[in-house]
Amino acid sequence: MKFVLSPPPQSSVAVQGTDDRFPVRRIFCVGRNYAAHAREMGKDPDREAPFFFTKPSDAVVDDGETVAYPPKTSNLHYEAELVVAIGAETIGVSVDNALQHVWGYAIGNDLTRRDIQFEARDKGRPWDEGKGFDRSAVIGPVHAVASVGHLPSGSIKLTVNGEIKQDADLKDLIWSVPEIISILSQSFTLKPGDLIMTGTPAGVGALSPGDTCVITIDGLGSISTKIGPRVG
Ligand code: MN
Repeated sequence: MKFVLSPPPQSSVAVQGTDDRFPVRRIFCVGRNYAAHAREMGKDPDREAPFFFTKPSDAVVDDGETVAYPPKTSNLHYEAELVVAIGAETIGVSVDNALQHVWGYAIGNDLTRRDIQFEARDKGRPWDEGKGFDRSAVIGPVHAVASVGHLPSGSIKLTVNGEIKQDADLKDLIWSVPEIISILSQSFTLKPGDLIMTGTPAGVGALSPGDTCVITIDGLGSISTKIGPRVG
């Protein structure tokens, strides 16, 4: 096949312990999946089914990169998240069979233009500008299930310039990883290369140019992101 333009490069994230890369197809994200975070967003965690939004695959940023402060916002937020990497196609999978489709796990930072997201939320508009902007998905190396196993519990922590901002446990997810995969697969065919950002705990807050944001999850090490000068 001959294209009229050079096709875009394949988006990818690092794989722990190798120079090989994990190709990224889609990035699904879960909204409000820790009770204390749902409350800090002004919502009742007990009465809401999970909901999903997406980021473009080329929004991915590797661990250790600098992310320029994005345009059109004065309230850039961090969100520490466990990321699930899908390795096998599935649709309509049961909770019991869901984990068979996981290739591995990574640490993610769901960078958010909170002011734009809230304006969209309050006006009933899509979240793309608030959530799906350039370089908005920091995702660290994927650790294969074969080496790290599954992660039903474990500490998830985020610091800004060394100060702890988020400190929770993966067992506090309202919807567990197998439940998220099962529910998402009722709506979308999940395919190899899909990533799922599973939601952030309480304690979200703002980042400024010059800040360094580090996220640690038990078993997955840590990822570090520096915020660079504003662009645009
Ligand atoms: Mn998030």
